[in-house]
Amino acid sequence: MSEKNEMTSNFGAPVPNDLNSVTAGEKGPVLIQDVHFVEKMAHFDRERIPERVVHAKGAGAYGFFEVTSDVTKYTKADFLSNPGKKTDLFARFSTVGGEKGSADSERDPRGFALKFYTREGNYDMVGNNTPVFFIRDAMKFPDFIHTQKRNPKTNLKDPDMFWDFLSLTPESIHQVTILFSDRGTPKTFRNMNGYSSHTFMWYNEKKEYFYVQYHFKTEQGIDNFTGEEADKMRGIDPDCATRDLYQAIERGEYPSWKLEVQIMTPEQAKDYRFDPFDITKVWPHSDFPPIEVGRMVLNQNPENYFAEVEQAAFSPGNFVPGIGPSPDKMLQGRLFSYPDTHRHRLGTNYHLIPVNSPKNAKLENYQRDGHMRTDNNLGPGPNYWPNSFGGANPEPEAEMPDIKIEGHAKRYSYVLTDDDFVQPGELYRRVMTEKDRENLVRNITGHLGGARKRIQLRQTALFYKADPDYGTRVAKGLGLDVQKVKELAEMSQEERVAATKE
Ligand code: NDP
Repeated sequence: MSEKNEMTSNFGAPVPNDLNSVTAGEKGPVLIQDVHFVEKMAHFDRERIPERVVHAKGAGAYGFFEVTSDVTKYTKADFLSNPGKKTDLFARFSTVGGEKGSADSERDPRGFALKFYTREGNYDMVGNNTPVFFIRDAMKFPDFIHTQKRNPKTNLKDPDMFWDFLSLTPESIHQVTILFSDRGTPKTFRNMNGYSSHTFMWYNEKKEYFYVQYHFKTEQGIDNFTGEEADKMRGIDPDCATRDLYQAIERGEYPSWKLEVQIMTPEQAKDYRFDPFDITKVWPHSDFPPIEVGRMVLNQNPENYFAEVEQAAFSPGNFVPGIGPSPDKMLQGRLFSYPDTHRHRLGTNYHLIPVNSPKNAKLENYQRDGHMRTDNNLGPGPNYWPNSFGGANPEPEAEMPDIKIEGHAKRYSYVLTDDDFVQPGELYRRVMTEKDRENLVRNITGHLGGARKRIQLRQTALFYKADPDYGTRVAKGLGLDVQKVKELAEMSQEERVAATKE
């Protein structure tokens, strides 16, 4: 091996010249025998991998999680087993709808994805900065995302698409209310909470199981842009949140979050007054008080953005013993969709990319080959199971508890009930300050004002159903007839849709 710091080809041979291609004569055409030129161009031509269809713009950092209280009666997860126990992690924050070059201050939920490198394998918590979501069945997800993207004809973001879908999907009203509050434009990634949004299952050594929701509460305090500030920031610094995270960590100001969980027993879940697995709703704190679990600190920037952040791949299905799924229908859809999209984006061996690999656990199975197998392909064998050559065996102790399921296999439609309007109404009336309400109404009217009138009417009726004052203020801000909005609010959703057709 050469001692010199010389440039080489991808196969380690010295590169003699990186400025001039080989030509036939001084003014002649370029020769294909200039293999360095061909390799350099061919690699450049393939630099871009598919952009994430959602959460394309993001920033990430490494850190650790430290347990601060004993939760072993709820979960046997090793990384949560002892107060004081620390586990390495990687976090990625993102916007959702925008392309990879879009502005960090866009109004959008923020992704809050964590990968814990535990001794029992990687555990991913793929959450958002909002405790709820727009829809509760993943069947609607591709449609919902299309409405947040560009119009197929104009290639422009389209308020008609956005609000048409949301007003035809009234279960979105809770998330819409949070999104259009100033929490829809967090000032930095450090100044926002992270929520699992979904319900998960925790189970202990005795296989007793519980349902759980995670809340990562920022220790920097919540801080948001107003709508006007966020719009301005798009021009001043489209990468403001990416820059803030990187620079804070470089300065040694390590951001931290406290993890609290809400716990519900299966008995409570059976009889609860609404479906506890419905992701459009929160579990009220008064019924399920948050319990402290630990603290997360981010203290190291990645060395290479593409290698570590762009190639990071999270899946809500990356469980470790002690943690499993709930029947939340959005979660069930994501269990399939996340690893599927990574196989498309990064290839079937995406788990071998260092940021994704289980660096504190062993990887041992019989899956072999495939594109970009960059390790030793799990050695000489055996490559099948069962085998009598000393290969790795399944560990029955890692099985999740049995869950009793009953009912008919069919497509159960969620019936829209007045329940869907209770929590957004509570948020508007009880949790928000008057200033929050003013900003909410201004943010909504600024955006919904771009949609056609009949869609404005249909959506404003939903705000009215959440709270008459909310609907009235939006109607006035848009110059709509308040009486007409009230009448639409009193109709069933089918009647409302029929009354606001083209
Ligand atoms: P609580 O009064 O116990 O909790 C209210 C929660 O709302 C707090 O966690 C607070 O989080 C959060 N919050 C405060 N201001 C805003 C805002 N402008 N936009 C969004 N969230 C805000 O009440 P409940 O548990 O009964 O919930 C009432 C409503 O609060 C819910 O309908 C929901 O809309 C919202 N909420 C509830 C959460 C839950 O898990 N129960 C979580 C987040 C919101 P913080 O500590 O950051 O101020």
